[in-house]
Amino acid sequence: MLASYAMRSEESRGRRYPEPAHAYRNDFQRDRDRVVHSRAFRRLENKTQVFTRRRSDHFRNRLTHTIEVAQISRTIAYELGLNEDLVEALALVHDVGHPPFGHAGERILNAAMQEYGEPFDHNLHALRTVEQFEQRYADFPGLNLTFEVREGIVKHSRDYSAVEFPQLEEYLLDQRPPLEAQLIDLTDEIAYSTADLDDGVESGILTREHVRDSVPLFARLYEEVEARYPEAAEKLIFNEALKRVLDRLVSDLIVNSRKLIAEAGVQSVSDVRKFPTRLLEFSLEMDAERRQIKDFLYHNLYFSPVLVRDKRQAEQVISEIFAFYIKQPKELPASYQEKARHEPLHRVVCDYVAGMTDLYIFEQHRKFFPAKKRLSV
Ligand code: MG
Repeated sequence: MLASYAMRSEESRGRRYPEPAHAYRNDFQRDRDRVVHSRAFRRLENKTQVFTRRRSDHFRNRLTHTIEVAQISRTIAYELGLNEDLVEALALVHDVGHPPFGHAGERILNAAMQEYGEPFDHNLHALRTVEQFEQRYADFPGLNLTFEVREGIVKHSRDYSAVEFPQLEEYLLDQRPPLEAQLIDLTDEIAYSTADLDDGVESGILTREHVRDSVPLFARLYEEVEARYPEAAEKLIFNEALKRVLDRLVSDLIVNSRKLIAEAGVQSVSDVRKFPTRLLEFSLEMDAERRQIKDFLYHNLYFSPVLVRDKRQAEQVISEIFAFYIKQPKELPASYQEKARHEPLHRVVCDYVAGMTDLYIFEQHRKFFPAKKRLSV
């Protein structure tokens, strides 16, 4: 079933610590299972996707977002003849490096670390998480994932230069990643763009009319649904239209990528790696529609007064907690105090804070800054 350009598990470059093959699970299936059973994966449930504080049980959190990315990715992988097991492992692991409070958290941790001349980057943090912080196996530190999953963690959403990041040199930085890894960034955006329209309306920050009036693709599909179900409740028409938006994005990505792959003439993973550009893309027309959705969300949801207030609060909590542990390292858990004997304190504090959930960091903040008790989830 796999296309010639798919990444086969038997052709994996293997694990850092060699292990015997499993009786009935291939290496990428085992990687997927190790991710699902990790603590970092479970913590995604209490990490912000877009809405910092639980305003409704129906909003996506980073765990449900991750499951949506895995579902969409598998559908596309199957249609393109890619390795679904690898795609699933990559999708499930793609957000484990995110600190509390989503992108606001990442920005503020990066700012705190820049004072020490180091960046904070969620992809690099994800790599450290699966290589070092997860302690579950007697034979090796971390999850001992295959090269391709670790490479995908690093390269799924951006390219890194070996000059700037010498520690990533082993990941073939001058080459493209396999198509399975190229897919994840695109499905991530399909998943969050459609979900954020949904949650945005659920939150009351966006209205259905506003979405319809501002997103042409949505408006066209809304009309189509309305014509077909003239009696249906407005909410159902909205849901049906949004489902169709997702379907159009996915279908376009499949059809256009199939065309790009054929035109490129790639026959193997090695051809994919050597090809000068990434080969999975939306058509130009759909790319314009995709951008309209993204722009709409930026202007009307992500920087809406309610979410900006949440972000400010998140930034305050993270920067105060970070500064607190730098000043009072004795308050760190014993295992982190031990780490600080071999690593710079700012790095250890950053790792500790980045691993926290929204719930846990609020709890720590209440404990150490009791005067600011009002800050609560
Ligand atoms: Mg994501």
